[in-house]
Amino acid sequence: MAQVSLKNVCKIFAGNVKAVDNVNMGIENKEFMVLVGPSGCGKSTTLRMIAGLEEISSGDIYIGNKKVNDVPAKDRDIAMVFQNYALYPHMTVFENMSFGLRLRKIPKAEIAQRVNEAADILGIKKLLHRRPKELSGGERQRVAVGRAIVRKPMVFLFDEPLSNLDAKMRVQMRTEIHKLHIRLQTTIIYVTHDQIEAMTMGDRIAVMKDGILHQIADPISVYDHPKNKFVAGFIGSPPMNFMKGRIVKQDGRLYFDEGKIKVKLVDDMRKALNAYVERDIIFGIRSEDIYDKLFVSEAPPENIVRVNCEVYEPMGSEVYLYLNTGKHTFIARVGAHDRPKINQEMDLVFDMSKVHFFDQDSEETIV
Ligand code: ATP
Repeated sequence: MAQVSLKNVCKIFAGNVKAVDNVNMGIENKEFMVLVGPSGCGKSTTLRMIAGLEEISSGDIYIGNKKVNDVPAKDRDIAMVFQNYALYPHMTVFENMSFGLRLRKIPKAEIAQRVNEAADILGIKKLLHRRPKELSGGERQRVAVGRAIVRKPMVFLFDEPLSNLDAKMRVQMRTEIHKLHIRLQTTIIYVTHDQIEAMTMGDRIAVMKDGILHQIADPISVYDHPKNKFVAGFIGSPPMNFMKGRIVKQDGRLYFDEGKIKVKLVDDMRKALNAYVERDIIFGIRSEDIYDKLFVSEAPPENIVRVNCEVYEPMGSEVYLYLNTGKHTFIARVGAHDRPKINQEMDLVFDMSKVHFFDQDSEETIV
């Protein structure tokens, strides 16, 4: 069993830098957990503490039921793949992949078998005799992963392993690591700042900022039910649109009034928002929940907003509209053939059943 758990884990660096602030997290056996967040949020430090490369300031870390706070990195039965691959330049691919096994005095025949098996899985059998400088970035990345696989560890730790690759190779390796997880059935903890990697690879994702774990859940739950404004804005591309405004009551109905545009709230949200009547609030709507009225057969008039279209970007499969209410700018993703007139007003429809509201002060999700 290779579950990993963190209990009240903190890391304070010299100068009182609180890099990780009381993180609690349980990673299941065979789970693919992604730690994601902006630069400096503490995700690498968290991973390095699990690896045993960084001391814990307080709290406990368990790997497979064993408390590992004082267990040296080499005895934790984990393998880590780093961003810079850390391959030995003077060694061949075979030697790089087998290095750790040789140190452990594993018999030669078993080493050869394990390296060949890993090279086969990763499609690098033909490269075993080459040195790192004779490989492409993607190939080097495979060797670094291969070196981890041959150890047959209880847990794999990946620290931004794809960030040195070009965009196309990143997408390819993303799928390969995903497939590898399905094949190896091992626990993986994967650090990235790229929310698309997190969404596409993780069984669950842990979203961090300023050393604090803000939300941990499966990717769709995080996307559909972000815990606060930070998570809502960080997960999703383009990011969620936010507008400041007020909740107002008219004829017994609740509306969100942005100042220039006003939309009616759905009944399901009334209960949660009643306490916010005549108060400032933050409204959030994802770009795919906004439609060009021209293409909507029956739109309730209270959900229609008139805004200025400043630019549009054809993306092939869809079009991004850059819009302006006069107070806020926002983005809508509409059909591939939509071509609104630039710098003219257009009518949009908000899907009010999909919108989000956040408390202006705490920025926590209200509904
Ligand atoms: P990135 O994506 O940029 O690698 P990260 O989320 O992985 O960022 P960490 O590397 O974990 O962030 O760093 C978290 C915080 O701790 C940052 O403020 C960083 O400056 C600080 N930090 C990291 N290592 C040290 C160190 N050895 N000494 C002092 N502060 C450190």
